[in-house]
Amino acid sequence: NSSCSEEADEAVKVCVRIRPLLDDQSEVTRAWEVGPSENTVVSSSDSSSYYTFASVFGETSSTQRIYDEIGSDIVQSVVRKGQNGTLFTYGQTATGKTHTMQGMILSAGRDLFENLSENDDDSTLTSIKIACIEVYNEDVRDLLIAGQPPTLSIQEDRDGNVVIPNLLERQISNVNELLEAVQIAEENRSVGSNNINERSSRSHTIFRLTYTKKEVSSAGLTEDKENGSSDGRSCNKVIETTSVLSLVDLAGSESVRVTKATGDRQKEGGKINQSLLTLSRVLEKLGKKNQHMHVNYRDSKLTRLLKPSLAGNARMACVCCISPAMQYAEESRSTLEFASRTM
Ligand code: ADP
Ligand code: MG
Repeated sequence: NSSCSEEADEAVKVCVRIRPLLDDQSEVTRAWEVGPSENTVVSSSDSSSYYTFASVFGETSSTQRIYDEIGSDIVQSVVRKGQNGTLFTYGQTATGKTHTMQGMILSAGRDLFENLSENDDDSTLTSIKIACIEVYNEDVRDLLIAGQPPTLSIQEDRDGNVVIPNLLERQISNVNELLEAVQIAEENRSVGSNNINERSSRSHTIFRLTYTKKEVSSAGLTEDKENGSSDGRSCNKVIETTSVLSLVDLAGSESVRVTKATGDRQKEGGKINQSLLTLSRVLEKLGKKNQHMHVNYRDSKLTRLLKPSLAGNARMACVCCISPAMQYAEESRSTLEFASRTM
């Protein structure tokens, strides 16, 4: 677990996306906009207040561009290096987290299945499975099962792998099947809740794609083909590599600040989002490589689920979404603060 090299790819890449104003927000002046140097976000009322990031995406940039800049590398590491990768969307409700994540899922799916068809030959067999998981009020549910499925438990095997008994994993073989699963998950997400908006802004959705590659060593294969002798078969080795790409649409960041709300809203809002709070700490620690900061992955369901993708040589990227609207100026500032702390 030592910090070995500076040259290694960064553990956490953070970028900011500013969404366009909503139709009913007709104001001309934005609270936040892309600065003159393109990788800064500047306060329009005070140009001395700005934040610098690796990438900043303005109101007119496409999700595909964001994916190309920060997502595609991670997907390639999952496919070619067998590393785990995670893409997050973070931000206040209605800033475009789901919009951004859905677009990135589509792009990631295209890349994965393109690789799948390129790589598969006589000696390699790749397959992809999807699972969709919701974390809401520290309960974990399977979003591929309709209705209100029982809560799932999270276990760890002897090797430290996360095991979720009874979680449904669907084999998918093309982008359409991926989108179908995502659609089912989105539909099931709203079932069984009194207030759909409340639930979708307080819950996390994890789309977990497991990529498995089975390679038959070519020496073994040739001998096997020649005469099928038992000697030949014995050197027929199958090497299996599994890597996981997690696409995580996080709960609204305002839900961790609910403690600041006054009595009534606090009751209505329920408990603090423990999972988002713990994940924020984990990302801050990983980004800054601040080994002194204490983080316990066991403190929340989300970090327990994602642990294999947050530790070790895993790679991750986070798109922090903000609104440029004046009325959300301070909420956007706290997202920018979070994004800077995580870099
Ligand atoms: P969140 O998941 O953060 O609550 P959504 O992704 O649901 O927010 O976005 C709220 C609304 O704004 C949706 O109707 C979405 O389609 C729209 N929207 C978000 N970001 C953009 C964007 N960059 N361009 C156009 N529409 C967007
Ligand atoms: Mg959403």
